[in-house]
Amino acid sequence: MSTRRSFLQQIAASAALSLVPLSSLASERKYEGPVLRVAIMGLGGYGTRVADAMKTCQKAKLVGAISGTPEKLTRWQEKYGIPAENCYNYQTFDQIKNNKNIDVVYITTPNALHHDQVIRVAAAGKHVICEKPMALNAKEGQEMVDACKKAGVKLLVGYRMHFEPQTLEVIRLRKEGAFGKILFFQGQCGFTIGDPTQWRLNRELAGGGSLMDIGIYAINGARYMVGEEPIWVTAQETKTDPVKFKEGVDETIQFQLGFPSGAVASALSTYKMNNLDRFFVNGEKGFAEMQPSTGYGPIKGRTHLGELKAPHVTHQTRQMEEMAGIILEGKEPVVAVNGEEGVKDLKIIDAIYKAVKTGKKVPLNLI
Ligand code: NAD
Repeated sequence: MSTRRSFLQQIAASAALSLVPLSSLASERKYEGPVLRVAIMGLGGYGTRVADAMKTCQKAKLVGAISGTPEKLTRWQEKYGIPAENCYNYQTFDQIKNNKNIDVVYITTPNALHHDQVIRVAAAGKHVICEKPMALNAKEGQEMVDACKKAGVKLLVGYRMHFEPQTLEVIRLRKEGAFGKILFFQGQCGFTIGDPTQWRLNRELAGGGSLMDIGIYAINGARYMVGEEPIWVTAQETKTDPVKFKEGVDETIQFQLGFPSGAVASALSTYKMNNLDRFFVNGEKGFAEMQPSTGYGPIKGRTHLGELKAPHVTHQTRQMEEMAGIILEGKEPVVAVNGEEGVKDLKIIDAIYKAVKTGKKVPLNLI
């Protein structure tokens, strides 16, 4: 016969259970290894997307936030269960060095801020994940790599496509020779940008225009799809709206890359056309075509062998799971996501802007 006390205990136990979703119990049971404790700096559009995606991570957990807006910090504490002692602003975040409960800071602020923020985080002894583009130019990028090396912390760049299953399948096929010798890559990255007052159209904060923001996907994609480092670049800029796209903010850039094997790449980066999110890689024996190729997905595509059928994943969830493995367990990704990888893209960006200015072919030395 159940006593009143045991009855109350049963009620309490079942009430407690009902507060914990079964899925989280199941996921807690599945993974018992180390967890990467992450603070996000810059609580805007992409920072929020990463925070939401981390809710379903097993190996990474959002535990901290850095913002210049106190109300945002309060909101994030409530929304993501972040303790107040793990919240900082842009003046105080160097104190993170005394916080034993944060392993890494994920920087999702405007491009121009990445350089100084990464260097400050490294000096505080924390690992860093920095959004793309890693910096405004290769010199800044190299300084960030050097600072992280000196501080003994890891620096990773938020290249989410390096973990995306359809992308990895095309890379696997290319590596096993399914396309034969690679001859050509084409990348088209563009959308029509809205609000003319946003930081993406401010040269000081963005460091450029569409090339810094989305053209970088075609640069990076050309490298991992062809599987070589380019040795020269040519580029041309066109501008139809000089009021919206001021001096130093590119509206549309086309560029071409040459690779040691003789393969070539052709790409278009724009803030003035929609429906442009397409990769095409062509070899002597076959091809892969992806559209959409770098959006949040599902990524779709086909090769000469048929449709790409890898499952859709939330890119940022997969990225954070894999980055936890890289930081905590020294795992090696299929395509590098370290600071050196980011600097290579910046060297190409520097060369593209130089080619636009001079109209000449610019040699590249990435190795
Ligand atoms: P956003 O404008 O939505 O967010 C930027 C955040 O930085 C805001 O919260 C803003 O308040 C804060 N901030 C701090 N200092 C600032 C300053 N001086 N000026 C303006 N804002 C300041 O931008 P976003 O779309 O989240 O982009 C942030 C970074 O993430 C960029 O580097 C961008 O390239 C990158 N990003 C990457 C992806 C991806 O798929 N990997 C997607 C979107 C953005």
